[in-house]
Amino acid sequence: MGIDREQCIKQVNQYIDAHREDMMQFWKELVSIESGNESQKEGVDEICSKIAEELRGCGAETQTIQMEKKGNFLLADWGKGREKKPVLFIGHMDTVFKEGAAKQNPFRVDEDGNAHGPGVLDMKAGLTIAVFIVKALNDAGYNERPVKIAFAGDEENGHRESGAAAVMLEACEGVAAAFNFETGYLDDGLVVGRKGSFRMTVEVQGVASHSGNAPEKGRNAIQEMSHKIIELQNLNDYEHGTSLNVGLITGGTVVNAVPDHCEIKIDIRFTQKERLDQLLEKIDEILAKTYVDGTKTIVHKTVPSAVMEDSEPVMALFHHIEKTAELTGYGKVKPIKVGGWSDSSLVASKGIPVVCGLGARGKGNHSPEEFAVVESVFERAKLIAASVILLDEDLV
Ligand SMILES: [Zn+2]
Repeated sequence: MGIDREQCIKQVNQYIDAHREDMMQFWKELVSIESGNESQKEGVDEICSKIAEELRGCGAETQTIQMEKKGNFLLADWGKGREKKPVLFIGHMDTVFKEGAAKQNPFRVDEDGNAHGPGVLDMKAGLTIAVFIVKALNDAGYNERPVKIAFAGDEENGHRESGAAAVMLEACEGVAAAFNFETGYLDDGLVVGRKGSFRMTVEVQGVASHSGNAPEKGRNAIQEMSHKIIELQNLNDYEHGTSLNVGLITGGTVVNAVPDHCEIKIDIRFTQKERLDQLLEKIDEILAKTYVDGTKTIVHKTVPSAVMEDSEPVMALFHHIEKTAELTGYGKVKPIKVGGWSDSSLVASKGIPVVCGLGARGKGNHSPEEFAVVESVFERAKLIAASVILLDEDLV
């Protein structure tokens, strides 16, 4: 560790220690602004302006990408023009809660030092941490790399109704590493893998006929589908993280008619794109087979979501954070893989080193029981700031 960097880390830590109250206040304000993904665009946009203002206060350039239906997207550049590659801080400003959530479950800290409130963990703690890292780096005179910020306004529905995914993909271009301040885990597991998902609808068309008068003339679509379901379910490969769930089924009209229609919906999760491709081949084989003559099978597929694989660049960044955690006295962290999607999946799909789950430690996302460990907000801010300061090109 060079002397300047050591000094810089020291100063950052002092800044965090001296601004605990400010961080708590900022966090509280973010939680108190309701920003549900479904209908509270104004709330998300308010958070967006608030964070932009704070970042401009440290000299960052900010840009708000207006979204029509969902919350706006915040882009910011702090220290633009510095020679080294930038680091990217990722997050989202929306929550999953309905209107009134902050009234029913207001921000508060309990006697165990845990903070409660809608989005307190997912991920208003993370937003607070990211903003105060920039403020602390600014105060400490850090000048090695630019820091870019990309906070989406609609992560909770996977950017389905906006162009936010494209903005995120553009934002991560050319960065040295990305840090996602999503929900942290109580056991200090840092996320290095997130499953991708893929959905299919399968329809079988049969031939309807009266089940008493002319059953032999019918072609039973439910029967055909049943064979297929059993074979499809057998493709589950939990060991390699590939799972398939036939989760919905509809078919038939009345009990005394041979059904001419049956439909299923399938949810597929995967940890590696390659394994998804292999699975899809097997699925196609099954669906191409006909068990009941005279039936026809029609398949509708969606586009697979991005998957975050524990690739070499991802693990290199993890090991860098792990080393920094030991060096700075934070303690032990460990790599974990989880099921849910996040923007890290998009960034990882571009081959960029990214680690997720760097926000406050806590539990209970997407529920009123959600809580975040207050002390971890300061600890994580120090850890990730130090990870930025100590980031060398050869590490990632
Ligand atoms: Zn989240």
